[in-house]
Amino acid sequence: MNSTQPRKRIVVAGGGTAGWMAAAAIARTMGEAVDLTLVESDAIGTVGVGESTIPPLVNFNRIIGIPESEFMRETQATFKLGIEFENWRVDGEKYFHSFGSTGRDHWTAGFQHFWMEGLQRGHGESYDDYCIELQAAYANKFAHLPDDLLNYAYQLDATRYAAYLRRLAEEAGCTRIEGRIAEVQLDGESGNIAALLLDNGKRIEGELFLDCTGFRALLIEGALHVGYDDWRHYLPCDSAIAVQTSSVRPAIPYTRAIAHDAGWQWRIPLQHRQGNGIVYCSRYLSKDAALDRLLSTIEGEPLTQPNAIPFVTGARRKQWHRNCIAVGLSGGFLEPLESTSIHLIQRAILRLLRMMPAGEVSERDVAEFNDQQLTDMVQVRDFLILHYKATDRRDSPFWRQCAAMEIPDTLQQKIELFRETGRVFRKNEELFVENSWVQVMMGQGIMPKAHHPIARKMSDEELTRFLASLRDNVASTVAALPAHYQYVAQYCGAKEVE
Ligand code: FAD
Repeated sequence: MNSTQPRKRIVVAGGGTAGWMAAAAIARTMGEAVDLTLVESDAIGTVGVGESTIPPLVNFNRIIGIPESEFMRETQATFKLGIEFENWRVDGEKYFHSFGSTGRDHWTAGFQHFWMEGLQRGHGESYDDYCIELQAAYANKFAHLPDDLLNYAYQLDATRYAAYLRRLAEEAGCTRIEGRIAEVQLDGESGNIAALLLDNGKRIEGELFLDCTGFRALLIEGALHVGYDDWRHYLPCDSAIAVQTSSVRPAIPYTRAIAHDAGWQWRIPLQHRQGNGIVYCSRYLSKDAALDRLLSTIEGEPLTQPNAIPFVTGARRKQWHRNCIAVGLSGGFLEPLESTSIHLIQRAILRLLRMMPAGEVSERDVAEFNDQQLTDMVQVRDFLILHYKATDRRDSPFWRQCAAMEIPDTLQQKIELFRETGRVFRKNEELFVENSWVQVMMGQGIMPKAHHPIARKMSDEELTRFLASLRDNVASTVAALPAHYQYVAQYCGAKEVE
């Protein structure tokens, strides 16, 4: 170290997925430029869920230099090509939200416009027939393809992921301290956090603090009182119960989200076991009834005691305040329907790495960080609301409430624009791309009344050839893929993933 400046002391409070992702990323990116400490309490433990992810995690792991096959072995991960939504529009129907693209877009218009022109001219093939990820998921196949032709994420054991990241972070210089944070001490003059006082008497000082204490939000809320925007009027589920079961084989490359009369259930297949849970609105379903429903519908043998987790959907009003940044559940929770929480952790960490203060915290950085992080959260929130709002279900008070609820203007505009013209626009580097919105809108029963006139330019012969070549390409690509579980076993040296 040549610099004469003292090293910035960064303290990560909490060692769940958020804390260890942050510690590993900072340690492996910044190295000795910072002095990094993580405090966690084994006695308190972690939330113990969070197993389904979305494709940007592949990039996060690459950025921090994690070898993928080692990561998959360590976390007992499987590949994930999307989410199957059952019973969301009506009971008994399902659709798939795949990663990646469907068909081929023109710069003026997404593929859905050409597909709809085809429908009008008598081509009855499903929109699903044009998506490699979707067809591979249902064929239970997977392989890495050149040019990232097959977009994927992971289904992983979050506890193992945190343990793996801990090892990497410690190897890269992060100091771990075990103990319960008893007090967050503020500097009387600046109002900044000065130190964490542990119940064993240790005092940990720092210049920058990451609040990764989960729902407790000990620093950002407990000490700094930034406030919380409650979004339950948009996202009414407020409780979950999770249970792990033995594997149901073969492990499929997608997550299932199965709606019921007061919420939904998840099934996430890993190499060594399956994650299951029920998400529900406590106004319409009691905890006992939810537990009965979960236990009577799981496949495989329970391996853990059911873990009940109440939550309030919403976001902390400031994600960065003074010298404290909320990362993970301390910053808010949008419920796990589209597996976006770990992604929001990743976004916060990468954002912080870009805005790492050189000396004093800049209020400009803070404002920019808050604006960007909260924009992400609002955009994800709107996408989640769509699943509840756009439904033809009226069979329970829960679904009637969802269908009748007021929704944000931004989402209303998106839905109506699609309904009228088939168009979707992506703003501010929005996470969910056009194809995601199109799949979920159509899956939830919103069909466009019109489509872009450019699709009419094609003659019957051209359109037929265009559509058929896309379908053939999907079919032949998928036919050539190996079985998902075989590929996982070979790729990461798993004993048996069948
Ligand atoms: P936690 O895991 O709760 O960690 C908090 C840490 O702070 C722990 O180490 C704890 O010991 C420590 N701590 C707390 N208080 C103190 C104290 N006083 N002293 C010292 N240490 C302390 N996300 C996804 O991306 N995909 C999913 O499929 C998904 N499913 C979910 C399902 C449910 C029902 C829920 C509730 C969440 C789900 N999530 C999912 C979200 C995901 O679980 C979290 O984003 C992720 O686990 C990060 O949690 P965390 O690290 O912020 O908090």
